[in-house]
Amino acid sequence: MQYLVVYAIVLAFVWVLYVRRQRRLQAAHAQQLQQSLEAGLAEPPSLHPVIDPLRCLGSGSCVKACPESAIGLVGGKAVLVNAASCIGHGACFAACPVDAIKLVFGTETRGIDIPNVTPDFESNVPGLFIAGELGGMGLIRKAAQQGRQAIEAIRKRSRAMHDYDVVIVGCGPAGLSAGLSAIEHKLRYKLIEQEDSLGGAVFHYPRHKVAMTAPVKLALVGTVRFGEVHKEKLLEFWQGVVGKTGLKIAFRECMQGIDRAGDGFVVRTDRHSYRTRSVLLALGRRGTPRKLEVPGEESPKVVYRLIDPRQYDGQAVLVVGGGDSALEAAVALAAQPGTQVTLSYRGAAFSRVKQQNRLALEQAQHGGRLRVELESTVEAIDSDAVRLRTQAGKTTLRNDAVIVCAGGQLPTPLLQQIGIEFDTKYGTA
Ligand SMILES: Cc1cc2nc3c(=O)[nH]c(=O)nc-3n(C[C@H](O)[C@H](O)[C@H](O)COP(=O)(O)OP(=O)(O)OC[C@H]3O[C@@H](n4cnc5c(N)ncnc54)[C@H](O)[C@@H]3O)c2cc1C
Ligand code: SF4
Repeated sequence: MQYLVVYAIVLAFVWVLYVRRQRRLQAAHAQQLQQSLEAGLAEPPSLHPVIDPLRCLGSGSCVKACPESAIGLVGGKAVLVNAASCIGHGACFAACPVDAIKLVFGTETRGIDIPNVTPDFESNVPGLFIAGELGGMGLIRKAAQQGRQAIEAIRKRSRAMHDYDVVIVGCGPAGLSAGLSAIEHKLRYKLIEQEDSLGGAVFHYPRHKVAMTAPVKLALVGTVRFGEVHKEKLLEFWQGVVGKTGLKIAFRECMQGIDRAGDGFVVRTDRHSYRTRSVLLALGRRGTPRKLEVPGEESPKVVYRLIDPRQYDGQAVLVVGGGDSALEAAVALAAQPGTQVTLSYRGAAFSRVKQQNRLALEQAQHGGRLRVELESTVEAIDSDAVRLRTQAGKTTLRNDAVIVCAGGQLPTPLLQQIGIEFDTKYGTA
């Protein structure tokens, strides 16, 4: 009897602890959801889960399975509490014990354009192929697999009198894998990448982010089994593969248009034109950095992302933009010794940013390390200065570097011009 009482007390104690912990977690998740809504970050970027509240038992398996902390429990049901960070791996979908989750593209209010492609990844324009995240499937493994499979299809097409068998645009996981496959099949290929680094979206993950990726087969390399891997290690591995295989990548070359020419295409970049039989678009969905289009922008001191804040120690830096990446860059730079930072934004307030970034910005401003110019625009960039139009009128600031974080231009209009057809998905699979 005594044992039973002790057992019941221990059980009740554990139960109380469990209930308390669940309450705390759910309160934190509800707060997270509220913050996402307030910051206007409640829209998932692409593929994401939709949870049927009638089926959901609140088991929390999806919450545990989600490596991005995108999903939480609110009121005993699973909810996408941090939608902007959902990358669509579907780990939540696989973990749900009662099939309460389905994965969909777009939302009722925000449609997502997904190009129509055949199972061989050919678009409705014969000879023009699409692989990776641009086609809707956002995962490293899927992108790499599709890049390889698209080349398998391309190599079966007749090879005509063109300079290249295939021009591959983009060197993220899809383009890289396609390039290796092109070497394996002895295709005459050209691989172009608008940035000066390979890896695509992976290169831009936060520092030391752990990427999760299932085994993937790469041509010339074999099956790569990483599981969980730091982004730096993954990029190092890919660089090693490029070194060993001799894959040639034309960096800092941006595709600007594609014209049909006979039974092939001419791919126009900001540097050259290439005549090719087939084209593989592996562009991802981040787009091409939006430019300011002001005199002096071509200067090498103007960049479109912050790589290492330490390289700006002691300099006068202008950051342009009003989103999370602009605020994060400005705050990181302001923490460097002797760096003077001005953040210029054409809007009247930072309305669509994470609360934590807004607070960090305010702290840096109060600390006198950062000056914010709202409702301002850049008029010109000179070698040692920048000219701004602000609320108070025109002003010139001493300047050593400009970092433009003005978002990306999606490739959809360009692809529509070429004739590629899209389906707009509003919360459907
Ligand atoms: C924060 C974050 C975390 C993620 N974590 C994971 C994870 O843990 N596991 C996972 O499997 N997936 C993850 N993903 C998703 C994964 O990174 C992407 O699905 C994958 O990188 C898509 O590969 P891709 O080659 O199709 O496109 P991208 O990686 O986007 O590469 C496209 C490339 O094309 C280039 N390009 C675009 N336009 C042009 C042009 N006009 N001319 C020349 N080049 C151009 C771009 O510069 C880029 O290098 C994550 C994504 C994000 C944003
Ligand atoms: S799809 Fe992936 S990132 Fe999105 S909620 Fe599910 S597990 Fe998390």
